[in-house]
Amino acid sequence: MPSSSLKTSKSSIISKIEVFRVPPRWLFVRVETADGLVGWGESTLEGHTEAIEGAFLDLKETFTGWDADGIEDIWQHAYRSRFYRGGPVLMSALSGLDIALWDIKGKKLGVPVWQLLGGKVRDRVKVYAWVGGDHPSAVFEATKVRKEQGFTVVKMNATDSAGWIDSPALIEAAVKRVREVKSLGMDAAVDLHGRLHKGMARQFAKLLEPELPFFIEEPLLPTQVEEFADLARAVSTPIASGERLFTRADFRPYFERRALDIAQPDVSHCGGISELRRIASMAETYDVALAPHSPLGPIALAACIQVGLAVPNFVIQEMSWQIHYNSSDADLFTYLSDPSVFSVSNGHVAAPEGPGLGIQINEALVRERAEVCFTQPPWRNATWRGEDGSLREW
Ligand SMILES: [Mg+2]
Repeated sequence: MPSSSLKTSKSSIISKIEVFRVPPRWLFVRVETADGLVGWGESTLEGHTEAIEGAFLDLKETFTGWDADGIEDIWQHAYRSRFYRGGPVLMSALSGLDIALWDIKGKKLGVPVWQLLGGKVRDRVKVYAWVGGDHPSAVFEATKVRKEQGFTVVKMNATDSAGWIDSPALIEAAVKRVREVKSLGMDAAVDLHGRLHKGMARQFAKLLEPELPFFIEEPLLPTQVEEFADLARAVSTPIASGERLFTRADFRPYFERRALDIAQPDVSHCGGISELRRIASMAETYDVALAPHSPLGPIALAACIQVGLAVPNFVIQEMSWQIHYNSSDADLFTYLSDPSVFSVSNGHVAAPEGPGLGIQINEALVRERAEVCFTQPPWRNATWRGEDGSLREW
């Protein structure tokens, strides 16, 4: 064992760390121990797959030979010992490793991760699904399908690409879509993706307010904490954000400035299960709810559900089943041996009872797909330009 690792008895020594690039756009992490345990994590950073694979060269070199039981020691070492810290790349890599270590610990002790986090505070987690694509359209028909599938809440992109200040017709159409979806008896959340800027985001939030959206997500870019706070004071709609914030440190100014009502850390970016749990507790202190972001793969969803079961301020979980980024042969259930673990009933997914993350990954399929996927260009998001040729937010 390296001298920098703590010594424990009955340790499970990390013998191998692997990453797998798999369709549609995910990066899975597999950690194996010398005593035969295997844990899975997810480090998907959409559009930056090679950067995470690069970060893992260091994590493999550093942590092979360490005690897999030392989750917090490994987290602290990965976060602090290399001088540079935080940000999407380093934190997404650490997230996948952390999730895999929690999976291993649960399997070693024969309990679900939620037991290790203090036990359940609920029996099931409320979930929502996406309707429409990057360009919102046909959300009314798509919501009918989601209702039949058992969902009670859907989320959609609010607007198409937008100029810095654009035609008010753009936001009038967005409000109309929300009204139509709600007429089906469903709750509707809207995601701005930071596409609007301050002047128009305020205008949109005011116009949408009477429709009682479930929440409004990323109404501004994550760099605009003061402007978020102004918006939160201007409307009664719950303001959500956090998929592009990493660690408690990034969330801190949002909480202190009363800028958020719903924190949306992504377990594959924010620092894994360890940090998601800590952000949830920090949010609770400020009376802020937790709705983990997860348009990603099944391992990320499983990790979110484990935390959602164990924290009091959890409200709802995003799930990527049939999201527009997935395909019929690379969807949320594709890599699971038993997809029933994520069955949606009356808008909820029941607490998994299996050890660790409570899912079983079809490893043979992961290896088969990864072999092909590695030879192909990784997924990238589209680049959008307006009518005048200028760059717009995606
Ligand atoms: Mg979002």
